[in-house]
Amino acid sequence: MSDRSEVTIIGAGIVGLATAAVLLARGHAVTVIDRDAPGSGASRGNAAAVAWTDVAPLASPGIWRKAPGWLLDPLGPLAIRPAYALSILPWMLRFMQASRPAAWRRSISAIAALNGAALPAWERLWQGSGTLGRVKREGCLDVFDKPGEVARARSGWQLQRDHGIEVREVSGAELREMEPDLGPTVVGGAFLPGWVQVDDPHGLCLDLAAHVRARGGAIEQGEVVALARCGEGVILRLREGPVRRAPHVVLACGAWSRRLAAGLGEDVPLDTERGYNITVPEPGVSFRRFIMLAGYGFVLSPLASGLRIGGAGEFGGLSADPDWRRVDALVARAGKVVPKLDATTGERWMGFRPSLPDSLPVISPSRRIPGLIHAFGHAHHGLTQAAVTGELVAALVAGEQPSVDLAPYAVDRF
Ligand SMILES: Cc1cc2nc3c(=O)[nH]c(=O)nc-3n(C[C@H](O)[C@H](O)[C@H](O)COP(=O)(O)OP(=O)(O)OC[C@H]3O[C@@H](n4cnc5c(N)ncnc54)[C@H](O)[C@@H]3O)c2cc1C
Repeated sequence: MSDRSEVTIIGAGIVGLATAAVLLARGHAVTVIDRDAPGSGASRGNAAAVAWTDVAPLASPGIWRKAPGWLLDPLGPLAIRPAYALSILPWMLRFMQASRPAAWRRSISAIAALNGAALPAWERLWQGSGTLGRVKREGCLDVFDKPGEVARARSGWQLQRDHGIEVREVSGAELREMEPDLGPTVVGGAFLPGWVQVDDPHGLCLDLAAHVRARGGAIEQGEVVALARCGEGVILRLREGPVRRAPHVVLACGAWSRRLAAGLGEDVPLDTERGYNITVPEPGVSFRRFIMLAGYGFVLSPLASGLRIGGAGEFGGLSADPDWRRVDALVARAGKVVPKLDATTGERWMGFRPSLPDSLPVISPSRRIPGLIHAFGHAHHGLTQAAVTGELVAALVAGEQPSVDLAPYAVDRF
C-alpha cells in the first residue's frame, strides 16, 4: 500500500466516522483526529432521521416575507439572536439569493441527487459495519392541525413525488388510527413509508467509532489549529504535539470547519443554525413513527432512550450560551397536538447544524492544497448524507469519477 492511501480525517462526527469506515473498507489506512470524544458535536443529539425523502432547501421563493418574524419572535421556529443579527447579515443576503426561483430549483436538484444516493450508501455501511440493528423502518408522518397548512403542504408532497418518493395523503382520523396519541386537533397530513431513522444517533457514532478501531483505524484526540501545503500533501498543526503530515486529509469539522478552510484562503459562508431538543424517557405517550409538525417547526422522534422533541433553528453563532426557553417553547407547542404528553423530565440538548445558505454541503477537493478534501456543511442532513459523503470522498481519494456530480457542492461555488 503506498503512502498516498493514508488518510487523516479531522472531525469524528457522523460525517468523519462514516468516511473513515468507508475508506477502511476500501483498504486505506485511516486516522481520525478530534478535539473531543467521537460523536460529541451535532451528531450526538440530532433527531435520528435518515431524511432522504427531503428535497426542499430552506431558502425558497417567498421565504423572505417570513424574515421579519424571525427577528420579532425570539422563540419561534427560526430565530435570529439580536446580538448576532449583524454577523449573520452576509449569510442572510446569500440565503435570499438562494431563494430565487432558478437558484431554488438548482438546490432542489442537488439535494435530490445527494439524498437519492444517501439510503443505498447507508444500507452498505450499516451492513458493512454491523450497525443494521439500529435502523427503524416505520416511515414518517407529516402532521398538521390547520386545513390551510395541509393545502399548502401539497405542493411540497408533489415535489417529492416528482422525485420518485412515495407520499400518501392521509386524513386526521387515519393519522389518529396510525398514532393514537395524536390529539383531536390534527386534521390531516401525509405518510412517507420509505423514511428511515436510527434508534440513537450518538449510539450509531459510538458503534462506528468502535468499528473503525476494530478495522485498524486510529481515533486520536487533538485540536487542529491550522492546515498548510506540503508538496503534494498536507501539513496539520495541532494545539499540542508535533506537526503532522499526511498525503490525504479530509476536513469534516461540521460547523467549526470554516476557520480552518479560511486559513487557506477558502472562505465559505458556513454558519450555524443552532437546534434544540429534549429527550423524555417516560413521555406518557408512545409513537411508532417519526412525526413531523412543519406548521409548528418541530419533530417527534421515537428513540431507544425515549421520545425526542426537537427542532428550532437559531442563528446565534458558535459561542453564545443555549437559550433553554426554546425547549420550553417546543414542549408547549408539542402539547397542543399531543395533549397527553408529559415532558416534565428529560435531557435538554443544543447542537450546531453546519449550514450554508443554499442548504448544500461542501464535498469538494480543496482548490489550494492538493490532497485536502472538504466534507462539511451538511446542515439538516448530516446524518442522512454521511455515508454517501464518505463514498464520494473515497472516490476523490482514489482519483475515481464520483457517482454524483460534485459541481453543486464545490468549495468555490459562492
Ligand atoms: C436539533 C438537531 C436535529 C437534527 N436532526 C437531524 C436529522 O434528523 N437527520 C439528519 O440527517 N441531520 C440532522 N441534524 C443535522 C446533523 O446533526 C448534522 O448535519 C451532522 O451531525 C453534522 O455532522 P458532522 O460530522 O459534519 O459534524 P459534528 O457532528 O458537529 O462533528 C464535528 C466534529 O469536529 C470536531 N472538531 C471541530 N473543530 C475541530 C478541530 N479544530 N480539531 C479537531 N476536531 C475538531 C468536533 O469536536 C466534532 O466532534 C440535526 C441537527 C440538530 C442540531
